[in-house]
Amino acid sequence: MIEQLEELRSKALADLGQVDDAKRLEDWRVTYLGKRSALNQALRGLATLDASDRRVVGQIGNDVKRLLEAEFVARQSQIDRKTREFELVRERLDVTLPGRPLPVGQVHPITKVVGEIVEAFHGLGYDIVEGPEVETDKYNFALLNIPAEHPARDRWDTFYVKTDGVPIGQHLLRTHTSPMQVRVMERSRPPIRVVVPGRCYRYEATDATHESEFTQIEGLAVDEHLTFADLKGTLTAFAHAVFGAERRTRFRVDFFPFVEPGAEMAIDCHVCHGAGCRLCKHTGWLEIMGAGMVHPRVLEGVGYDSSTYTGFAFGMGAERIAMLKYGIDDIRTFYANDLRFLRQFR
Ligand SMILES: [Zn+2]
Repeated sequence: MIEQLEELRSKALADLGQVDDAKRLEDWRVTYLGKRSALNQALRGLATLDASDRRVVGQIGNDVKRLLEAEFVARQSQIDRKTREFELVRERLDVTLPGRPLPVGQVHPITKVVGEIVEAFHGLGYDIVEGPEVETDKYNFALLNIPAEHPARDRWDTFYVKTDGVPIGQHLLRTHTSPMQVRVMERSRPPIRVVVPGRCYRYEATDATHESEFTQIEGLAVDEHLTFADLKGTLTAFAHAVFGAERRTRFRVDFFPFVEPGAEMAIDCHVCHGAGCRLCKHTGWLEIMGAGMVHPRVLEGVGYDSSTYTGFAFGMGAERIAMLKYGIDDIRTFYANDLRFLRQFR
């Protein structure tokens, strides 16, 4: 009888160790402490024992019962605490709540437009190269047929950079991406087809159409037998890619020291289709870039034989292209960092 009770105690405690939720705990209680439990039946059977045995066995049986009851209560509060903690976590982690949106970045409209322009030329077989923003007078002006004291320099109001050991006026923030024409020609031989996107800087008062910092995209093609017809064909294909296949183009004479002849390229207004509107200032045309045949002096300057090689070059402002494409009337909005403006260009 005593052995039975001790066996019962060991089994009950071992089983309780496996119990980890309220339902199994209740099953355990019914099995070991319920009315029909083995322990209760044993205690009820005490009446059949001798008086001396009854005292000893009754003592042990009651000890086992108290022990199991105490273990039951301890286990119950443990399980209750676990359940409450779980509920609390579940309240904090309500998986049915809508997620908090994370702020997602986007490319700047100018970066986007530069990408489109560069992609249009890439499709025509042009490589993309980049150059330094701090240039030397030699590359920014001299080798582009703009010698010192040349009146054409007035077109580029320049930020000069002070460098130790270099005379003032030699280092500057590039005023255009054209220096890369020379750098590319110096390090390679024709055929050359490159586009050069990049930041440029001019010391000028800012207004709706001028910023002291802007983005230019330069293009250069040099090969044997390149003519003005190639220039027109290439730039027309570009205009169709960026402004629509139905665009008409217009080339008029313009002057840039590093090309001869030079031209200004316009497209018919994509808003009014030439009828005249605010965007095209009622002319029906939008000027989009300067271009021309590379000046023989620029070719000779890098050691190319200008009787064998010819080329054409072009340059456009990415901000201007973006303004025309999206109908924006103030260049300053691009760099004012107003997210309400920038978020329109997703
Ligand atoms: Zn128009």
